[in-house]
Amino acid sequence: MKLTDISYIKSQMEEYSVNFKKKFGQNFLTNESVVQRIADNAAEGVLEIGPGLGVLTYELCKRAKKVVAVEIDDTIIPLLTKNLSEFDNVKIINTDVMKVDIKKLIEEEFADCSSVSVCANLPYYITTPVIMALAESGAPFESVTVMIQKEVVQRLCAAPGTAEYGSISASLAYYGKCKKLFDVSAGNFIPMPKVDSAVMRIDFYKEPPVDCDRKMLMKVIRGAFSQRRKTLVNSLGSEFSQYNKTQLAEFITSTGLDANVRGEKLSLEQFAQLAVVMQNANP
Ligand code: SAM
Repeated sequence: MKLTDISYIKSQMEEYSVNFKKKFGQNFLTNESVVQRIADNAAEGVLEIGPGLGVLTYELCKRAKKVVAVEIDDTIIPLLTKNLSEFDNVKIINTDVMKVDIKKLIEEEFADCSSVSVCANLPYYITTPVIMALAESGAPFESVTVMIQKEVVQRLCAAPGTAEYGSISASLAYYGKCKKLFDVSAGNFIPMPKVDSAVMRIDFYKEPPVDCDRKMLMKVIRGAFSQRRKTLVNSLGSEFSQYNKTQLAEFITSTGLDANVRGEKLSLEQFAQLAVVMQNANP
């Protein structure tokens, strides 16, 4: 495939007067097998964030019924459009994905698709906000497969009690099951990034895995991780200043947990139990 050929990429960019833009996290994939393996996660409808020159989009178009690709860089659009000209199942939207109403876009663009997934090589500077925006959008995604910084994959997929487990892993566990698929070293991109990457997939739950108020759950998780080195009873106060330590300790022990437990030990189910108690105390 030509789009992974470094000299072809450079000559095309020169011809179309396009430069690599660091501010948009532009590191283009040059490894065909990595592109194929990401594209293999396509559902019938695919939302791609940051198509760049279209290397992944091209493979997605071959696999999906419809592909919608959101790209912020207007200077790249003519070249991207040319690279995808053989397909009639792709729509390019030139905008900032953070400004998009994701649920509305999915409803409007993929009404005739039985399943929708996200596949993307995400720009480093907005990986977590994009993933959380997708999760919180309420759009009926089957899965989200993204290539991001390796360390961030470890954090997002971390299990309770591990050093990498944090508020983002606990929050994401509410929306879907996260799994690391494979590592991709920095040498597989042009220009070469400073860090290694990995591809992860989130399989979204059709129904929430725990039964509690979502906003309260997220508040409890935020509180629990607000001061990592402190015990749960001490860190929860940051989000629940209306309660004193004794009251917070009672809430915690009523779920069967030790009041001196640290937030990082709690599973999603335990956070949910605590959220139910807190909600009942102050609905
Ligand atoms: N998909 C291509 C590939 O794999 O080679 C490019 C991936 S590159 C890491 C990230 C892409 O996201 C760039 O094309 C960049 O311009 C685009 N991008 C950056 N910020 C964006 C945003 N806020 N909304 C949409 N696209 C964005």
